[in-house]
This record gives sequence, structure tokens and C-alpha cells, in this order.
Amino acid sequence: MKKKNSENIFNSREHLSKIKPYVPGRSIQDVVQELGIKDCIKMASNENPLGCPVTSEQLSSMLKTAHHYPDLNASDLLGLLSKLWGLESNQFVVGNGSDEILQMLAFAFLDPGDEVVTSWHTFSEYEFVANLCAAETIAVPMTEFTYDCEALADAVTEKTKLIFIANPNNPTGTIVTGEQLDGLMSRIDKNVIVVSDEAYGEYVTSDQYPNTIENLKKYPNLISLRTFSKAYGLAGFRIGYGMGHPDLIALLNKVRQPFNVNSLAIKAAEIALQTPDFIAQSKELNAKGKAYLYTALEKMALGICKTEANFICVFLPISGNEAAKRLLEKGIIVRSLASFGLRNAIRVTIDTEKNNQRFIQSLEECL
Ligand code: PMP
Repeated sequence: MKKKNSENIFNSREHLSKIKPYVPGRSIQDVVQELGIKDCIKMASNENPLGCPVTSEQLSSMLKTAHHYPDLNASDLLGLLSKLWGLESNQFVVGNGSDEILQMLAFAFLDPGDEVVTSWHTFSEYEFVANLCAAETIAVPMTEFTYDCEALADAVTEKTKLIFIANPNNPTGTIVTGEQLDGLMSRIDKNVIVVSDEAYGEYVTSDQYPNTIENLKKYPNLISLRTFSKAYGLAGFRIGYGMGHPDLIALLNKVRQPFNVNSLAIKAAEIALQTPDFIAQSKELNAKGKAYLYTALEKMALGICKTEANFICVFLPISGNEAAKRLLEKGIIVRSLASFGLRNAIRVTIDTEKNNQRFIQSLEECL
């Protein structure tokens, strides 16, 4: 066969070299194996301390049909979501986690050389999906650890296709208000798609949070993403969804793999949506834990970002890496925020009362 070029095939797509491996929260299993700490708790991945709303009986019953492919369109789930939000079922797209919907957005809109605009100190998947498509990520500074909508609008150029906003933001827990979002929407061209990533939206209590439904009606170039991984307790199943204008959703469905979400995840999401009070209980536990942690961290004179999510960003007198290491030795997994550009900070999930107390006591011992 004729030799095409001498370039190494593994380096041939240059933009892929920009991709840094995703750093997940460490698993309990890892820590048990590596450090031999048996009584280990994970407060690093913003998972639901109430656990999963699916019972083992329900899971067994799902297995009876697991030899069939899933419903391509997840019609029953879309029916439930339509009821929940008061939107038409052609306004929803379901993904293998909301992560997959971020990727669909990139595949649907980004050509090499296009730009996406986002912020510093935010979720790394936005840059990841841009890199997959050889697009450039323009990240603007935050104002008081919050997305700066003026700066986002200023950063838009003719090449901008997508603006990614985590609302609430991971890892700071801060929100863009309805007014700020309106300001941004009024300044940008309608051909720029704004992605409002509301993975933690169920936890928000602020009355200044944007009204998702009203905004989707107002702005055809806005898409809101939600997930079942957090308040619904289904992180391991991998399922999330996007809501938007039918034309935008139709485009995402074009790039979606058939059968992208497995049948167990679809069924689990239906169960979660129909489990009475699960969300209310998740929110209540979170509110109590937040109040406790705020008081305890204030007593320790540590700075925090006021959070609208199920985690808190805590500023420390030592590096986040060092704090995470010391806490790990005590069996508590938290997230250092060094990789988010916040050197002296950690992110801790708001957990059960017992785990929150253990975290505070251990942190006191570590500092
Ligand atoms: N968006 C944000 C801001 C997140 O923090 C996460 C979870 N780390 C996700 C999206 C992805 O969630 P999932 O893929 O589990 O739905």
C-alpha cells in the first residue's frame, strides 16, 4: 500500500492534543484499595446522599425486558417530562448524562475554528466538547466567583456559535440571575446558541434564578440542560435531558446516536420522576446541611462562595491539593479546585448530617 504521509497517526488530529483527561472525584473503592481506609466517604462528586430512588424490586423487573433495545425516543419519559414542564415532547432530547447533550451541541454546531464562550472556574466539559470539534474556547473572568454576563457578551465574535453557562456554576455554586441572562440574550445575535446548564437547578432557592420555561418561550436560541444525576439520585444510570425550541431539539436528535440512553436508565428516570417527595426530601436535606456547614465554616473563619447547589466551594489557608490529600488520609474524599484555577480551594458535597460533621471535624484537624 502506498504510504500517505510520515506523520504519526496518533498525533494526526492536532486539536485532540489539547484535551486534558477528565479528573473525576476519586472512588471509595480506589481509596480503600490504595490507603486501606475502610470507613471512607465520598464528598467529591455532588451525588445525592439520600441514595437512589429505584428499589431492587423495580430493578429486577426492568431486567425482564433488558434483552430488548430501548425505546429509541424514550416516549414515556418524554410524556412525563412534558407534564412536568408544560412543554411539548418535541422540545426534549435525552442524553447519556447531560454530558452527552453537551457533546451533541458541539457536534451540531461547531466547525473547526469556531468559538465557544464560557467562563473561568467552570465545568471542564465545555472546553472538552469544543476541543473534540477543533473549536476554540474563549473563557472570560468571573465577577465575585459568578459568571459575568457582560464579559460573555463582549467576548462574542462572528465565529461564536455556543455560549456555555453553568447555572448554578460548578464549582462555585453561584448563579446567573434572570436579569443578567436577559441582558446577555438582548446583546447577542440570535444565531448564537446559549446553553444554560442547570445540572443543579433543582436545588436553587433564590428567587432571582431565571425562569427556565418563560425563557425557553422567549428565546429560541436558548437550551436548558437538566440531569437525573444530582437531585434525582441516578448518577450511575447516566441520564440527562435538554429542553428547547423544536428546531434546535430536532438538530440535536440528528447527531444523537440511536439508542444512546439504555433502557434501565430511561425506566429509572421515569421512576424518579414519579417518586413522591424525593426531590423535596433532597432539597430539605441539602438546606439543613448547607446551614450547618455555613455556620461551622464561618466559625473556622474560612471563606466560602454562597451556594445555590448541593456543594460548597471553601477557601483555605493551604492549597486545595494539600487539603484534599490530608482529608483523604482521614477517609474523606473532596475535590481540590486546583484544576478549576482555584488553587487554595476545595469543593465539598453537602452530605448527611453525620458526614457533614465528620468533614468539619476532620478539616479542623487538617488545618
Ligand atoms: N453540568 C455540570 C455543571 C455538572 O457539574 C455536571 C456533573 N459533573 C454535569 C453537567 C454532567 O452531569 P451528568 O452527565 O451526570 O448528567
